[in-house]
Amino acid sequence: QEKQSSNSDVIFRSKLPDIYIPNHLPLHDYIFQNISEFASKPCLINGPTGHVYTYSDVHVISRRVAAGFQKLRVNRNDVVMILLPNCPEFVLSFLAASFLGATATAANPFFTPAEIAKQAKASNSKLIVTESRYVDKLKSLQNDDGVVIVCTDDDESVPIPEGCLRFTELTQSTEIESVEISSDDVVALPYSSGTTGLPKGVMLTHKGLVTSVAQQVDGENPNLYFHSDDVILCVLPMFHIYALNSIMLCGLRVGAAILIMPKFEINLLLELIQRCKVTVAPMVPPIVLAIAKSPETEKYDLSTIRVVKSGAAPLGKELEDAVNAKFPNAKLGQGYGMTEAGPVLAMSLGFAKEPFPVKSGACGTVVRNAEMKIVDPDTGDFLPKNQPGEICIRGHQIMKGYLNNPAATAETIDKDGWLHTGDIGLIDDDDELFIVDRLKELIKYKGFQVAPAELEALLLGHQEINDVAVVAMKEEAAGEVPVAFVVKSKDSELSEDEVKQFVSKQVVFYKRINKVFFVDSIPKAPSGKILRKDLRAKLANGLMN
Ligand code: AMP
Repeated sequence: QEKQSSNSDVIFRSKLPDIYIPNHLPLHDYIFQNISEFASKPCLINGPTGHVYTYSDVHVISRRVAAGFQKLRVNRNDVVMILLPNCPEFVLSFLAASFLGATATAANPFFTPAEIAKQAKASNSKLIVTESRYVDKLKSLQNDDGVVIVCTDDDESVPIPEGCLRFTELTQSTEIESVEISSDDVVALPYSSGTTGLPKGVMLTHKGLVTSVAQQVDGENPNLYFHSDDVILCVLPMFHIYALNSIMLCGLRVGAAILIMPKFEINLLLELIQRCKVTVAPMVPPIVLAIAKSPETEKYDLSTIRVVKSGAAPLGKELEDAVNAKFPNAKLGQGYGMTEAGPVLAMSLGFAKEPFPVKSGACGTVVRNAEMKIVDPDTGDFLPKNQPGEICIRGHQIMKGYLNNPAATAETIDKDGWLHTGDIGLIDDDDELFIVDRLKELIKYKGFQVAPAELEALLLGHQEINDVAVVAMKEEAAGEVPVAFVVKSKDSELSEDEVKQFVSKQVVFYKRINKVFFVDSIPKAPSGKILRKDLRAKLANGLMN
């Protein structure tokens, strides 16, 4: 549907009608609203151990964890950090924070101590839920900042590190003292660099997440993606909002079983798909690629899968074909998300009650109860169908803003409430969205965010580096990898390896510099802004070989 007003503004909406969204409810009340229908059904399946939590288990235990947090003086609007690989305790801790009107910020457990400390301090985390094996990375937070550390290790016979508490101890507490929660309270605080600069705390409210989940699974089209008979695979990391929202929260809302895997191991994954009769498999292109290339798939029965979802990065035509070949009974659907957008902006409607065809290369149509526009990045004019421009979205699902950063918020959400994505796309005659380019700096390694500004700041800290620019280079397995253009100081003998080592000591594996190009200067606009497009063009044209 296209609405044209007198000043020729073109606003795009979903092909499906809007729905009622109870976004006055706190997230946990909304998520558990229909629990009486599936209280004794499996909710979380721990992949490696096979342990199953029913819906009623998850409801009871997460409330107990909330009571335990409360005893540790976690109050409304306080921040709890979750530093865990995918596991049931991740979900229980997230829900517990929601019950208290507190905020959960999740971080990658593979982060270096400095990366963790940055997020913990910026978010003012009071308590960290983690495993013993990561506690060494948290020493300064524990000793200098008085952060409480809770370990989820399940082997009670092995002691946990000194000064830490056990997660199971928290669950001894019973009732939560009542808390007043506003739908505008921030419940999740993922970190994202957005269109520019360093990672920032993205404030997602109860109202925002309820709206986003409802847009995906509620309403007259309950078969949109998930239903209560589904077994949904969760191998994508829950510390990223895609898995937290579109797998975990959507799965819980519909009463599905969620199969939790802490990491991607192809044989175990295929075995569990067969054993647990997985029906929905949300993936990212690098996982699709690994499965497409694996001869192991022949050994397993993958016929139960009815939906393969891909998001977080572009999925090429070859991978679409590979999915169709490897999963004979599955329909493939793409989704398009951005953390700041809550995160889902668009999704395929191949699963609606009256499905629309899924188009090759498209990432679906804009979600319901939202507005999308495509604007000319230079003039800000609204563009009509079939013309590429910056994708913008408006609706209750988008972030409230960046934590303690009104300037960055104002750069991303304009005065009319439009969130500017920094992605270039077009909407075709069938209202399908195609992403064609990225205007913003962001690099995506296997769907993980790498912020060039973060690596540039580290590199500028090297005594022999005078100037630097980090950009994305295309690579088959990862999609994109960061590469650095470096201006050495006079007489410096700095080598490519030294530059790489300098960075890799300070960052998680996917932020490592893949290649270094020594250059005389970095191309810049008169404003001082790095002309990243020129550098990317040099790479694409093979000028740096
Ligand atoms: P994140 O905030 O980490 O989810 O990253 C968001 C960015 O990932 C988007 O702004 C896009 O640049 C990219 N992205 C997400 N989904 C897709 C998709 N389906 N196709 C292409 N790019 C995508």
